[in-house]
Amino acid sequence: MINLHSGEFLQLNIVDLMIPSERVAHVQIGNNLEHALLVLTKSGYTAIPVLDPHYKLHGLISTPIIMESILGLERIEFEKLEEKHVEEVMNKSVPRVKTNESMKVCLELLVNHPFLCLEAENGFFEGILPRSTVLNRLNKHIKMMNRKAT
Ligand code: AMP
Repeated sequence: MINLHSGEFLQLNIVDLMIPSERVAHVQIGNNLEHALLVLTKSGYTAIPVLDPHYKLHGLISTPIIMESILGLERIEFEKLEEKHVEEVMNKSVPRVKTNESMKVCLELLVNHPFLCLEAENGFFEGILPRSTVLNRLNKHIKMMNRKAT
């Protein structure tokens, strides 16, 4: 049996596994919902971070949130896509950690979230830690431990 505590996995630096901010699809708080839907659709992601012009994290926007916000009583009010802005409808509760957070804490959070947002001490958005990246690394680690054990 593999004892992960004895391995190096939990000691990994989460920054080494992070997708850096410049490679993260995101929108700005002032963007309208039409733009956000365009970015979400083109990127293929269901939810992406909402940043301000100084790269501070304000929330997450997703396709379901946008669709819900333009749902009228009898029809989808597509004209609202242009009128409404991301900051009016975004989810302000963001799964976020500092870049020096431990892998153990991140693992616990990733059970319930597909990705975590990473912030520097000064609050600037540094990137994201997707669940799939961590699982990939854990899988590699387990294979390596198994090879060592045989
Ligand atoms: P994955 O585990 O790669 O499927 O990613 C899980 C979630 O993380 C995606 O559904 C997105 O919400 C988010 N995500 C992953 N990579 C990116 C990226 N490059 N830009 C923005 N969001 C991302």
